[in-house]
Amino acid sequence: MYINGINLPNFMVAEPGESYQSNENGNRWVEVLVDCPGNSGLFTYRLPIHLEIKPGDILSVPFGAQQLGAIAIRLLSELNVDLPPEKIREVEDIVSKGFFKSAYWELLNRVAAYYYTPLIQVIRVALPPGLLGRSQRRIRLSRTVQDQETKTQKDKLSPPQLLSSLPFVSPTAQQILGLLQAQSAGDYSFAYLQQKVKSAYRGVRELLRLGLVESYLEPPRATRPKLQKAVTFIGTIDPDLTIRQREILEVLRRRGGEVWQKELLQICNASSSILKTMAEKGYIVIEEREVLRTEQSPALAQDYPKSLNAAQANALASIQALDGFAQVLLHGITGSGKTEVYLQAIAPLLKEGKSALVLVPEIGLTPQLTDRFRARFGNKVSVYHSALSEGERYDTWRQMLTGEPQVVIGTRSAIFAPLPNLGLIILDEEHDSSFKQDSPIPTYHARTVAQWRAELENCPLVLGSATPSLESWVSVKRQEAGGRSRKSEVGSRKSEVLSPPASPASPASPAHYLSLPERINSRPLPPVEVVDMRQELQEGNRSIFSKSLQAALQQLQERRQQGILFIHRRGHSTFVSCRSCGYVLECPHCDVSLSYHHTEEGAPQLLRCHYCNYGRSHPQHCPECSSPYLKFFGSGTQRVAQELARQFPQLRFIRFDSDTTRNKGAHRTLLTQFANGEAELLVGTQMLTKGLDLPQVTLVAVVAADGLLHLSDYRASERAFQTLTQVAGRAGRGDDAGRVIVQTYTPEHPVIEAVQGHDYQSFSQAELEQRQALNYPPYGRLILLRLSSLDPIQVQNTAQTIATALSTNEGFEILGPAPASIVRVANRYRWQILLKFVPDALPQLPDWEEVRSLCPPSVSLTIDVDPLNIM
Ligand code: ADP
Ligand code: ZN
Ligand code: ZN
Repeated sequence: MYINGINLPNFMVAEPGESYQSNENGNRWVEVLVDCPGNSGLFTYRLPIHLEIKPGDILSVPFGAQQLGAIAIRLLSELNVDLPPEKIREVEDIVSKGFFKSAYWELLNRVAAYYYTPLIQVIRVALPPGLLGRSQRRIRLSRTVQDQETKTQKDKLSPPQLLSSLPFVSPTAQQILGLLQAQSAGDYSFAYLQQKVKSAYRGVRELLRLGLVESYLEPPRATRPKLQKAVTFIGTIDPDLTIRQREILEVLRRRGGEVWQKELLQICNASSSILKTMAEKGYIVIEEREVLRTEQSPALAQDYPKSLNAAQANALASIQALDGFAQVLLHGITGSGKTEVYLQAIAPLLKEGKSALVLVPEIGLTPQLTDRFRARFGNKVSVYHSALSEGERYDTWRQMLTGEPQVVIGTRSAIFAPLPNLGLIILDEEHDSSFKQDSPIPTYHARTVAQWRAELENCPLVLGSATPSLESWVSVKRQEAGGRSRKSEVGSRKSEVLSPPASPASPASPAHYLSLPERINSRPLPPVEVVDMRQELQEGNRSIFSKSLQAALQQLQERRQQGILFIHRRGHSTFVSCRSCGYVLECPHCDVSLSYHHTEEGAPQLLRCHYCNYGRSHPQHCPECSSPYLKFFGSGTQRVAQELARQFPQLRFIRFDSDTTRNKGAHRTLLTQFANGEAELLVGTQMLTKGLDLPQVTLVAVVAADGLLHLSDYRASERAFQTLTQVAGRAGRGDDAGRVIVQTYTPEHPVIEAVQGHDYQSFSQAELEQRQALNYPPYGRLILLRLSSLDPIQVQNTAQTIATALSTNEGFEILGPAPASIVRVANRYRWQILLKFVPDALPQLPDWEEVRSLCPPSVSLTIDVDPLNIM
């Protein structure tokens, strides 16, 4: 038996002999979300007449032999399942009314609808894992019984007399009542009663019906609070103190008089026995304190607001003048002091009792950023991301629900942080693609969700970046222009240069463009030197380091300065280019570079276009200049590290990439080592580009920009510009001037020129013209269907079937089906279909249930709305 595609367990059948009353008014049924291991999904229940249930309430429902916590999803007037109505069980009780605030509930529903995802999956992203599972159902004597019991005690009646004053109950029910009455609070967990009394379930049900007991779910809470020793300074300084003891007290005093013992021992490199002696002498107190298992960070010196420069002050004033929902694009070049603006925008909110949500792309950069927030706001700051342990995540989540004014910093899933009193949402580095989830569903973009959330909570959204995404740039520029023209020339709106993008934000949302065009203290942006690697090869330099870079590295070593070496992460797809002339093999139909297609060991080398499925064999010689040096690209950190060790044995470097930062806290450790001067060079991937503020870095080098330039993706240029500009922006942030070296085989590429000129405006203008011509975002909209299966034939056939079925719809273009760039991943074969919607036309969206129904069980289908990675 299936309900909404979920296999309905056989035991969900009513017991015989029970009669059901039907609800007179409208809705009779409710769909609830049950979350228990191995059996999550939507189930239909009967609405009891005496309960007023609303979507978002937490309920308790019978489920098999258990009672489970469940969330009411929607009310139904017609039964939606193929089951005789008398077989459907009734909701037992409302445990918590309005658990989800209506704005939050609306948000979850919008995400589900826009991303074609069942609500349950959205709720799973939003809630900490196992939330409902943790709740405990309890049974207590109802008020009337308790009152009566008090009366009985007063009148010195014996319990049997109490029972006899009650209506007739079964022996099971009597047993349960007896247990409850014997307990001072009259309250037991359901599990306990079940253990003690046979068929307790029936007895409780009976007592519930008679109103003698109440059932409730105990709000989830951490089972055992975590305790930790804290050391407190109590103010007496004695001449008897040893120097060592004095040092420790000094550290304590500097850090506000109280520090966790563990930390203090670390900072002072002391043993716990010295603390014990000090405690015995009465200088300090050591005691156990409850720690919320939120992420801990080292104690930080208090930081105070800086006095802003004119552009910062202007941006801050504009943000503070906002009343309610608005979208702000804070376009500040690297090192222009965006973070300081965020901090000062948040400070007054906290005083008003409101909270702020700060989203960052990756956890790699959060230690530094969170430190800055903690230094300013102390323990009002917490960190929330999926890499936290379940306990940490859960405690942080609980802490948010309290409604205390606070700042939550997190990665994309933190957009669902349940802060009740939200005053501001900030997306830092808003252009970053890690705000988008590719899988599993919902394939949401935190920026899109943030727009809805800001709108629903009626608070401003600030999007900060040195290299705004074209989506945000166009959206804000357009709305700003639209708003102005509406005000100034009512009735005669000029047609705009750029036609409206299909933006998920509501068209009327007020938008503001704010700019920080200068670095702090008017420091210049670093000059960018572009090195033509073709030239290097011609001149006989076969090293991956150009002569210029070699000289710079030499200098770094001699002067003990610090630098960053950026290596583009080895992508899934690699393009093929000629090392003699720079020629890149492209698709004749699509204007994207062809991908080197690695299927299996020993298979013939194939080049393929992942938009239209054009394919060709890997040529032996360059079609342009006949050079045999036609190679596919890709050089990992490892390779570069080997090369460094060979050519610069004295140079100390730290690898900073996904291999070396896998362990918890590794980012912080490596960056601290680097900041302490334990190495001259930080060698790493994408992670380096994101928000690092290391004032002592003077050199930034990009080993090979080409890996970024020719990805087979319509976004390749935008991403390349953003990454290169961001990585270049790490240089010269301190007093010493910086310099940037970019190595490439295509120095004439427009992206390279734009990066060299620090020219966002002309880059975006040129790129937008191309996007518009081809109806790519932010003009057209895309939906990508990703199919995968263990069976290569079946997935291909299914892709074909779906594409054919879709072709009867109008209003969009179908590209593909085509295999993904790495066809086989973890033994699954992957195909995809890209749907491209024309701008302005309301797309005739296909019926997704129908599309899904074309998928045999062996083929899985993910609908990726507004995909960022089409590879
Ligand atoms: P961005 O995020 O725009 O790259 P940051 O906020 O990291 O820039 O600022 C760069 C550096 O300048 C930081 O070290 C920051 O502390 C400092 N800074 C920011 N604003 C000011 C200011 N008004 N006066 C002095 N220093 C500032
Ligand atoms: Zn093509
Ligand atoms: Zn060539």
